[in-house]
Amino acid sequence: MRAGPPPAPDPLEVARLAEARTAVLLRIAAACARTGRDPRAVTLVAVSKTVPPERLRAAVAAGHDVLGENRVQEAAAKIPEVPGPRWHLVGPLQANKARRAVELFDVLEAVDSAELARRLDRVAGEVRPGRRLPVLLEVNIDADPAKAGFLADAARAALAGLLDLPNLDVRGLMTIGRLAATAEDARRTFAALRALAADLRRAHPRLGPDLSMGMTDDFEVAVEEGATIVRVGRALFGERPAAL
Ligand SMILES: *Cc1c(COP(=O)(O)O)cnc(C)c1O
Repeated sequence: MRAGPPPAPDPLEVARLAEARTAVLLRIAAACARTGRDPRAVTLVAVSKTVPPERLRAAVAAGHDVLGENRVQEAAAKIPEVPGPRWHLVGPLQANKARRAVELFDVLEAVDSAELARRLDRVAGEVRPGRRLPVLLEVNIDADPAKAGFLADAARAALAGLLDLPNLDVRGLMTIGRLAATAEDARRTFAALRALAADLRRAHPRLGPDLSMGMTDDFEVAVEEGATIVRVGRALFGERPAAL
């Protein structure tokens, strides 16, 4: 156990992170303005993988209220050191880490199979009885063999059963765009996710309204295409060490 509260974050670092945050929020607002959307309908998830806790405390002081991590183990070490924000798991979740993830995170964004959803439902009923666990279904909308997620048809087939799980709140869909040469190339992916969500919601109105799509290289296009959650790392924290 630490003796006292963590040291106050470096004001210069807070100022730098606040400036990067403002720049991203302005770009989100501009994308909203182009498409007649309300910027308050877009949540910025600051993806903080590889960023150490002291810098994340500065990020919280700079105004970030939602942080995203992609590995349960890394998050488990950092979350107790960074009080205040809500936490989204944006990366893949292995079945054996389901319980830890439910204990740590407020939203699980990358639920990629019906089996995982059923396991999370069981665990959530034990870990947080009476409070449904918010989740998004990850959809492999490009049917990219290298990617995880429900294929569109599989999502369609599984959805009714997933919406019936008593301890999950299926808030919407999430996708990781294919590696596109330009942001415009990503537009097709995002438009397809939005169309699928609209289609699924017609048959299943209980499917929540969220669309998590868009990262540093393409979040403005994602917002133009209806993203309600963007997951941005490098534009806020700088480049990560290679291979992460
Ligand atoms: C790392 C990551 C992001 C953020 O990527 P950037 O390019 O740094 O903005 C978003 N979503 C997921 C699932 C990630 O793993």
